[in-house]
Amino acid sequence: MSVNHLVVVGAGQMGTGIAQVALGAGLKVTMVDLSEDAVMKARGKIEAGFKRLVEKGQMDAARATAALGSFHGAVSLRDCRDVDFAVEAVTENENVKRRIFEEMDAAVRPGGVLATNTSSIPITRIAAATRRPEAVIGMHFMNPVPVMKLVEIIRGAATSDETYTVTKALAEQMGKTTVVSKDFPGFIVNRILIPMLNEACFALTEGLATVEDIDTAMKLGTNQPMGPLQLADFIGLDTVLYIAEVLHKGLGDDKYRPSPLLRQYVDAGWHGKKAGRGFYNY
Ligand code: NAD
Repeated sequence: MSVNHLVVVGAGQMGTGIAQVALGAGLKVTMVDLSEDAVMKARGKIEAGFKRLVEKGQMDAARATAALGSFHGAVSLRDCRDVDFAVEAVTENENVKRRIFEEMDAAVRPGGVLATNTSSIPITRIAAATRRPEAVIGMHFMNPVPVMKLVEIIRGAATSDETYTVTKALAEQMGKTTVVSKDFPGFIVNRILIPMLNEACFALTEGLATVEDIDTAMKLGTNQPMGPLQLADFIGLDTVLYIAEVLHKGLGDDKYRPSPLLRQYVDAGWHGKKAGRGFYNY
């Protein structure tokens, strides 16, 4: 099955990036959010994104105009027709996502795929809200979507080989490299990344080294572009804590327990870069 018409549900940070990359790859995209205003804001961001690419000589102007012409907006999945593939990128709330999957189930044509960009909710549970769990899959883009090359594909307990093949081909058409993960907490990236960031918080609590030295050590000693405490600030300490809690609860092992210092910073409202304060001041 080839994908011509993609629906992106959720016009936030991730949905906007997914829509931009899909349009750039020549797909027709319908973006769905709760209000026309949200959809139009996303359209404006995509237009600005294309403009930057044209200015940098990475996209030609005619292609940018054509791609933007393939953008459509809607405030309900009920207004979407002939959908081959839908990817959901709404707020990380299981009840909201389950409701949207029931609607996606009705909107996507038979044989189409229902994907979620969730970072932490089991694909298998979301799939159970539909009448075709074999067509449900995780398609986990990284932020910012236009820049980051990776898509983690997560197979739920019932995901079919056909669904996986279509999803991988779509991600590749969008210029991404894919990896495949089983449906367990954190998938691959967060399963390994978040314990490292959490461990940096424990090391800091123990007075092993200063914030700056922990980051410099990991940057220069392991060739990472950014140290773990700075990266935690960039992701958002609230998000890091949330994912650490998902790993701790979902894997049931105390080795994943969140650092009390991380929890205290979140309690204080020091959520990192977006809040102006985390391990660093911004
Ligand atoms: P966001 O808050 O920027 O956007 C969420 C959007 O969903 C909002 O525009 C909101 O209006 C819309 N929405 C909420 N309920 C809706 C409904 N019933 N119907 C239609 N639209 C609805 O969130 P985000 O950062 O883009 O994250 C979206 C998803 O992507 C989450 O599942 C998140 O876990 C996942 N994710 C986020 C990141 C990240 O770094 N931000 C990275 C990977 C995955």
